[in-house]
Amino acid sequence: MSEVKEFQAETKQLLNLMINSIYTHRDIFLREVISNASDALDKMRLISLKDPTVLGEDKELEIRIDVDEVNNRLIIEDNGVGMSYDEVIENLGTIAKSGTKAFLEKLEEAETENAVISLIGQFGVGFYSTFMVSEKVTVETRKWNEEKGVRWESDGSGTYTIEEYDKKDRGTRVILKLKKDLDENENYLDQYKIQALVKKYSNYIKYPIKMKWEEETEEGIIKITDKILNSMVPLWSKNKEEITIQEYYQFYKDNFYDWNDPFEVIHFKAEGTSIQFTALLYIPSKIPFVFYTKEYKKGLKLYSRNVFIMDNCEELVPDYFSFVRGLVDSPDFSLNISREILQKSKQLEIIKKNIEKKIIDALKSKLENERQKYQEFWKEFGPVMKAGLYQNIHEKSKIQDLLLFESSVSQDMITLKEYVQRMKAEQGNYILYAVGKDRKTIESLPQMEAFREKDFEILYLTDEIDEFLIKLLHDYEGKEFKSISSSDVKLDKNFKKKEKESKNLLNKIKEHLNDKVKEVRLTDKLKEFPACIVSADEVISLNMEKTLKNFEQIPFKTEKILELNPNHEIFHILENIYQNNPESEELKEYAELLYNQSLLIEGLEIEEIDKFVKLINKLMIEAKK
Ligand code: ADP
Ligand code: MG
Repeated sequence: MSEVKEFQAETKQLLNLMINSIYTHRDIFLREVISNASDALDKMRLISLKDPTVLGEDKELEIRIDVDEVNNRLIIEDNGVGMSYDEVIENLGTIAKSGTKAFLEKLEEAETENAVISLIGQFGVGFYSTFMVSEKVTVETRKWNEEKGVRWESDGSGTYTIEEYDKKDRGTRVILKLKKDLDENENYLDQYKIQALVKKYSNYIKYPIKMKWEEETEEGIIKITDKILNSMVPLWSKNKEEITIQEYYQFYKDNFYDWNDPFEVIHFKAEGTSIQFTALLYIPSKIPFVFYTKEYKKGLKLYSRNVFIMDNCEELVPDYFSFVRGLVDSPDFSLNISREILQKSKQLEIIKKNIEKKIIDALKSKLENERQKYQEFWKEFGPVMKAGLYQNIHEKSKIQDLLLFESSVSQDMITLKEYVQRMKAEQGNYILYAVGKDRKTIESLPQMEAFREKDFEILYLTDEIDEFLIKLLHDYEGKEFKSISSSDVKLDKNFKKKEKESKNLLNKIKEHLNDKVKEVRLTDKLKEFPACIVSADEVISLNMEKTLKNFEQIPFKTEKILELNPNHEIFHILENIYQNNPESEELKEYAELLYNQSLLIEGLEIEEIDKFVKLINKLMIEAKK
């Protein structure tokens, strides 16, 4: 005797929306049905733990998927707890959740399909998602401790039928009569499609998901075997001691499309009071090809009790670790949580903090114990960490000790801590740095000479972002970063006298150079070179000017200062010329030459290159007269 019943009003509304407005992501229905089956098996297992006899003959708890091609039906079956007559009405005819009404109102207002999907995701639609792909859904079920089974059937339009029915075995069978107008890529009867969906969404369900698998033998005979589609035991749910390093690596390679062994594996369980989760993280050893393209999505996979929720959950990793791959499994997230809700969740914030700390600890330990390897890692990912830190400078205290720099003292890269530990007292409170495209360029800078003589350690900033970052960092443990080209670095305090004596000459040179320089003055930083250029600007250095020039929209010019070396022979020549004739044309030419050679050695462009070349030629001729 079968009964026809109406769905609860809210259920009707929901079904209507799902059937008529969602055309993408419909394949989540399989995940939902399998996840319900898995829940039912969990419950059955729990009951059988108390009394093993309840299982009877049917001992192995499992999920079966069957394909009925003749009738265009997909069947998902479990031997879990099953449902009684009343439970079927309760569970499949109504939405028991609170907040249904508000949810439905929002759903009505939603304008785009994505908005609908995300709302539905937030609420968790589970079983009803089957109607997105089915014209009719039949549920046959028998509760574990009841004699009679129940059959429930609906086309999702407003009513369902329910009747008692003889079901031999315990558990639930969900029969989906698939829609005829599904897309080509929605062939849910194709064994490979099913396998792919199971692997994607349900790979780590604890129970075997079996299906009849057609395989062609070498003789061309089709053999049908039972195949388990899922791998069942998630690697991350095992204890660390049970997992070999090869298993960890293989899992990484299979899941994150990298053929290199990772640099480091981090696997931990957090069982704090506020939130439980397991994380399995990988720090790669090589930067992926797609890293700097739109193809690369940062973030970790998110699971809840072994069931996949989403890929690339960005909120789980800070920017400066955007290269870290892996997953988080937490029972505290619902299966259908949407990105919007997730982004705001407190739990996520807590997990992120924990993860971040573990990554930092792992990197610190590598830095301390495997320096050479860390240095290789740094060459790959240092730029990413620096760029990430640049955008999150408030986190500097966490990250600054992981930074490496080239240095004048050693061929190996050094940390800021190491620099500070061996700083010279005469250096004052300054961490000195020089900027250039590589070690060689920096070492040939005129300004380097005097520092070399003093034996001060200089950090070599060779990456374009370095100086921008250093300026934002401002200081390390109270020691301020200072460029050796910065205008206010003076080595010798007794310079005033000489400066006074040369005042008129310097003024004259400034007059000749006009507004090319802001100032002409003496320096004690030079030895072999007669002159150099420094930036008068504390914010934009000469090198930053070069970098910014690459972005054509921003023609940046820093104000420059020409510094002359009073101990150099050329300076004495300048003094002589000036004494003989303060208005000499020759002085002007010398000023131009000194200014331009200083630009060149800094790697900056000269404005009137033809004039410069003519001047040199003139000098060459005169030298031989
Ligand atoms: P949820 O899983 O979030 O509770 P669903 O819409 O997916 O919501 O399922 C509704 C309810 O139907 C479940 O809570 C469960 O009680 C029942 N149910 C669905 N599938 C099965 C199944 N295979 N075996 C037993 N009960 C099921
Ligand atoms: Mg469910």
